[in-house]
Amino acid sequence: MKVYMISYEVYPFAKVGGLADVVGALPKMLKKQGIDVSIIMPLHKIVSKNSEKFGFNIEPLYEKIPVPVLRTDQTFSVYKSEIPGSKVPVFLISNDYYFSADDVYNGPDLAEQSIFFSNASLELIKKLGSKPDIVHSHDWQSSLVPVYIKSVYRSEPSFSNTSTVLTIHNLGYQGIFDPKYLEFAGLPQYLFNVDGLEFYGQINFLKGAILFADVINTVSPTYANEITTEEYGEKLDGVLRIRSDDLFGILNGIDYSEYNPATDKRIYANYDVGHIDKKKINKVRLQGDLGLPKNEDVALVGMITRLVDQKGLDLLSRIMDYVALFNMQFVVLGTGDARYENYFRSLEQRYPDKVKANITFDVELAQKIYAGSDMFVMPSRYEPCGLGQMYSLRYGTVPVVRYTGGLADTVKEYDSHSLEGNGFGFRKYDAPYLLTSIAKALYFFNQEKKHWQRIIRNAMNTDLSWERSASEYVKLYEKALAKRRG
Ligand code: ADP
Repeated sequence: MKVYMISYEVYPFAKVGGLADVVGALPKMLKKQGIDVSIIMPLHKIVSKNSEKFGFNIEPLYEKIPVPVLRTDQTFSVYKSEIPGSKVPVFLISNDYYFSADDVYNGPDLAEQSIFFSNASLELIKKLGSKPDIVHSHDWQSSLVPVYIKSVYRSEPSFSNTSTVLTIHNLGYQGIFDPKYLEFAGLPQYLFNVDGLEFYGQINFLKGAILFADVINTVSPTYANEITTEEYGEKLDGVLRIRSDDLFGILNGIDYSEYNPATDKRIYANYDVGHIDKKKINKVRLQGDLGLPKNEDVALVGMITRLVDQKGLDLLSRIMDYVALFNMQFVVLGTGDARYENYFRSLEQRYPDKVKANITFDVELAQKIYAGSDMFVMPSRYEPCGLGQMYSLRYGTVPVVRYTGGLADTVKEYDSHSLEGNGFGFRKYDAPYLLTSIAKALYFFNQEKKHWQRIIRNAMNTDLSWERSASEYVKLYEKALAKRRG
């Protein structure tokens, strides 16, 4: 099966968020499962800086390829590389006007950049003489790809047997622009219609892919259901409901070699599921470094997050004065909205022996918190997949979450009869339920030590691998192929 992934970000070439991690990791696993996968991305300015840092080479392949469909004289060149440590080819679309800003999303015109990138990707596939089975777009930046394949490129021999797949990593970003860009894109005006790209008087690129891709997925099964409701649908729930038969959820994996408590050099003491005792060394050293009283018997509750509304901080801020009545300690690491930053600073002032607020971005400290905490809170309002709870599980730090999106798909309530489950949580978005879940976790930690050990083992044994995820993507591709044949 011949697959092209088209993504604006790919780790380690250029990364802004989680999209880059997924497209950097998933193709390696797909390749192991026999898929002939290549990646197409822009040659952002940052790529050459990263080539030294991460040790990859880029070689010139083609020069000055035109984009006749677009209203522009700009051409593109192509460079070739590989994902480090794999044989996955990466084709880089180069154009000095569109892709040479220091910041990936700060070019001259984001709409034109993404149109140019999407169209150039198809022209490149033609130039390569390739006839892909699957073209796989990620998020709004490459969302015009399925629109082109089903309209302007309809009778193009390269794509006569191509099925299209869209992965939505975050429905919050849709690529909404002025309708004038339709003309620049060389797309037919009839697409400016409620059954096309039109969206409240503008055009919406993600909506285009939701309507035109053969199959769609998002990064967890629960979020795939949630986004068809008004509450989570970001005004696209109606369109997503139309496509609900072709909408799936596939959980992301995490990189097991980088996030491994047995080998992680960023933590104080390494441990694995057979030696959970050593986790305590991490806790006591962390308490010391943070200036909290060193005591391995006091529950240490951690939180690492962007400090934004999405993360359920309004709930947390309503209950922390009650939580502080318990014998416990709380450490937060995050940056974001000033009101939350200030809230956590004032909480630390009220409870200097119990609370530490680290209002900064610090990847090393994050690992120490994942390893050293007993529990990890994540009461998100919505969560497409969520990484925090996955890293916590991997490090035997018991998650306390709101059961939404990927949190509902990775964390299961501990049951002291069946001994199954790897965490605690609540459904209804309301503060008392969060308080109850934290209290329940503290009860097990303090009173039910045997159970607590069991929860930690269950957490560490949860399968969060990319292998599992990649097998599901192979099935998704098969569905996309069947759909087109059908
Ligand atoms: P989101 O992508 O919505 O921010 P996720 O849970 O999917 O949420 O991913 C967040 C990632 O960013 C996690 O790996 C978390 O450890 C990391 N992170 C968030 N804030 C910080 C911070 N202040 N310092 C270090 N890492 C952070």
